[in-house]
Amino acid sequence: MSTLTRRAKRVGLSQEERLVWLAIFMLIAGCSRTNTSPDLLTEINRIRAIDNHAHPVRFVANGADRDFDALPVDNMEPQSDPVQLRPNDSGTLLAWRMLWNYPYDDSNAQHMREWKTRKEHVQKEKAKGYPEWILDKAGIDIMLANRVHMGSSIEPPRFRWVPYVDALMFPLDNSQLAGKNSDRKAFFADEDSVRQQYLREAGLDSPPKTLDEYLRLVVTPALERQKQGGAIAEKFEAAYLRSLSFDKVDRGPAEKVYATFSGRSAPPESEYKLLQDFLFRFIASECGRLGLVVHVHVMAGAGSYFDVQGTNPLLLESTFNDPELRQTKFVMLHGGWPFIHEIASLLTKPNVYLDYSAQSLLLPPATLGQNIREWLEWVPEKVLFGTDAYPYSDQLGWEESAWIAAKRGREALAIALGGMIRDGEISRDRALELARMVLRDNARSLYGFPE
Ligand SMILES: [Zn+2]
Repeated sequence: MSTLTRRAKRVGLSQEERLVWLAIFMLIAGCSRTNTSPDLLTEINRIRAIDNHAHPVRFVANGADRDFDALPVDNMEPQSDPVQLRPNDSGTLLAWRMLWNYPYDDSNAQHMREWKTRKEHVQKEKAKGYPEWILDKAGIDIMLANRVHMGSSIEPPRFRWVPYVDALMFPLDNSQLAGKNSDRKAFFADEDSVRQQYLREAGLDSPPKTLDEYLRLVVTPALERQKQGGAIAEKFEAAYLRSLSFDKVDRGPAEKVYATFSGRSAPPESEYKLLQDFLFRFIASECGRLGLVVHVHVMAGAGSYFDVQGTNPLLLESTFNDPELRQTKFVMLHGGWPFIHEIASLLTKPNVYLDYSAQSLLLPPATLGQNIREWLEWVPEKVLFGTDAYPYSDQLGWEESAWIAAKRGREALAIALGGMIRDGEISRDRALELARMVLRDNARSLYGFPE
C-alpha cells in the first residue's frame, strides 16, 4: 500500500502534513505566477544548443580581431540604450561571476580591475581553446559565426561560418546614400572596403563595365568562394542601409542603371534601388542554387538613425512569394522585434524561418517567453534559438553576451512551454520535444548537421 492511499483512508491531516501541503501549494502557485517549471528548465538546460547567430571574436595573442562584423556598431552616435544592454545590468554581473569567478556584487572602478584581470587570466590560460571554452560554459554545441573571415580559434566543427553579402548589392558610387547621416556614412565606408576586397579576390581593381560581367566575375565567384571556404549561410544586414522592400525587377532596367552609373557618378536613389533590388534577388537565388541559407537582419536597431519601419518583416513578403526563390531558405534573424506578430504570419511560407537571437539578450525571459509561445503555437519547426553574442562593450563582451542570452533564451523557452502545458495545449513530452527542436533539431535539419 502506498503512503498516498494510506493517507486517503485517514480522516484529517496532521499539523505537519498541513504544512507540507501548504508548501507544495505555494510552490505550484509561485511557479504558475512566473509560468516557469523548474524541472522543465533543468531538462532544457541539459540540451546542447545550436546558436543560429552570433559574432564570436578570435583569440589573438597580440593585436585585435575586427572581423566579427562587416558593419561594427561601436562608432555610432549615442542613443538611449535598452536597459539590458547597460553596463550595470544584473545579467552582466552574473555572467562575470559565472565565467570569471568575479567575487563582488557591484562593478565599481576598483572592482572592475579585478574583473579584467580574472578575464585576461582565463584568456591566456585557455589560449586558442578559449572561444570553445566559452561555448561549453554557455551550453552551446555549435555557434554560427557571422564574421567577415574565420580564423584560428574560431573554426569548425564548433564554429560554422556565415559571411556577409550586402557589399555586393551596392556596386555603384554610394556617396549619396552615405550622406544621409553619420551612421550611414560609417556603414557605407565599411561596405565599400568589403566590396573592394571582393573585387581584389576576383582579380579586378575596378568594377566591370556591365552588369553581366559584374554578376559573372564578382558576385557568383564570391559566393562560390565562400561556400568552398566553409560558409553554410550568407547574411544580409541590409536593414542598416535601406528598407527590406526588395521589388522584383527585370534584368533590363537593372542593366541600364549599372551601365549608366558604374565607375561614374552616384545614381538617383530611385534608380539605384532598382539595381539593389535586382541584386538582392539574384544573390538569394544563387544562394539557393549553392545550398547556402540566407540570413536577414529583421529587428529594430542598431543605432539612433535606424529605420525601424523599413525592417518590418512583411516587407519581405514579396521576396518570399517569388516562385523563383523557393529553392532558397531564409532565416529572419532576431524574431522581427517589434513586429513579432507579423513575423509569425510569414512562417507558413515553406522556405521561411526565424531565430530569436538578440531578443534573448535584450528582453526579459517573461516577455520573450510570450513571443516564443506565439511562434511555437503556429509553426514550431521554423523557430530557432540564437544569442547574437557580440562585443557590445568593454564589460559586455561576446563571451558575456553569449552566456546571458543562452541563459535567458532557455528560461524564456521554459516559460513558453510551461504555459502551453498548463493551458492544456501540449503534453510534457511534447514540450521537451519542442525544446529540442528549438534549441537544436530545427537548425540541424535546416543546415544538414549530423545527429
Ligand atoms: Zn548579429
